Amino acid sequence: MNYKIALVKGDGIGPEIIDSAVLVLNKIGAKFGHSFSYTDVLAGGCAIDATGVPLPEESVRTCLESDSVMLGAVGGPKWDTLPGHLRPEKALLGLRSAMKLYANIRPAVLHRALVSECPLKSGIAEEGIDLIIIRELTGGIYFGESGRGVGETGPYAFDTELYSVSEIERIGRIGFEMAMKRRKKLTSIDKANVLESSRLWRETMHALRSEYPEVEYSDMLVDNAAMQLVRKPSQFDVVVTSNMFGDILSDEASMITGSIGLLPSASLGTGTLGMYEPIHGSAPDIAGKGVANPIATILSAAMMLRFSFNLAKEADCIENAVAAVLAEGARTADILGDSKAKPLGTSEMTERILQKI
Ligand code: NAD
Repeated sequence: MNYKIALVKGDGIGPEIIDSAVLVLNKIGAKFGHSFSYTDVLAGGCAIDATGVPLPEESVRTCLESDSVMLGAVGGPKWDTLPGHLRPEKALLGLRSAMKLYANIRPAVLHRALVSECPLKSGIAEEGIDLIIIRELTGGIYFGESGRGVGETGPYAFDTELYSVSEIERIGRIGFEMAMKRRKKLTSIDKANVLESSRLWRETMHALRSEYPEVEYSDMLVDNAAMQLVRKPSQFDVVVTSNMFGDILSDEASMITGSIGLLPSASLGTGTLGMYEPIHGSAPDIAGKGVANPIATILSAAMMLRFSFNLAKEADCIENAVAAVLAEGARTADILGDSKAKPLGTSEMTERILQKI
């Protein structure tokens, strides 16, 4: 079967790391008998330079007509002084909204070979970190009514958090389904002791529970979750939460694994079309030097195979190859730590991974 993939290489290191992911996908295709066809799509700073806007309509159309989208990263100092509506980041929001992506999925995995990179105490790191944070992406306080005014005590501003039962149900189901495919443990995070929207969140999650009797479900308040993530991250399997709480907790979870160059992400909607990207940005400081770590993007390709194309064996093959090269001591500069090994460049690391597939 042929899968059509839109490639949004973007800016900075984006093109280098996407090229690595394409090599890996091609090797997987050859090994397992699939073919992948690619269309380059302009978005971000490079689109501003070429067309004057961060997300040309043709780019949106190509993404919508594809089976899936892979994104490198967008942005850089060259475009930082442009007005808000012309900033490269607008391309990401525009794509998420056009593709109706409402769930952001971020695994945080500490590879055995990289325990020394973990900023937590070694005893905690050795217990392992292997969790997934599912963040609601299109509702909540980031999209609620907001404004400013002047009251009796002076100027004020407000933002509102609004969630409907249907929004909570659809993200909640993704949480339960994901837990069923993993260790069958789901933690729903809210602030139900204070917020009405969180109380509705909790009630809705409880109503869903009966559909997934095999899943060990628990509620946790967000302040406690922030503590538990650094106290005992091994207690978490799948975590589901609202837009703002997920924004904050997913960054915390990424940090405790040691390197942003290793972590993939997926944004999903109702169908199988998704957008897959590393969690890091365009790293302008190292762009063009051939030293970027391609692993986050290669693991994003594995997520695409698993979630958009339902190719679990092929995704496992990529994840195992990455784990194997890390176990052998292969390191790019960002994950060198105290190692005396010579750091590998982007293409050398990619080559090592290809050899394991
Ligand atoms: P960044 O993630 O690009 O870089 C932070 C640090 O991590 C830098 O020192 C960088 O060299 C390093 N780094 C990042 N990815 C790496 C990799 N794969 N290998 C080795 N080292 C890596 O964050 P930033 O510097 O805050 O942002 C740079 C630009 O990226 C900004 O314009 C920002 O708006 C944009 N950005 C884009 C996205 C996206 O496209 N999804 C996300 C975050 C930031």
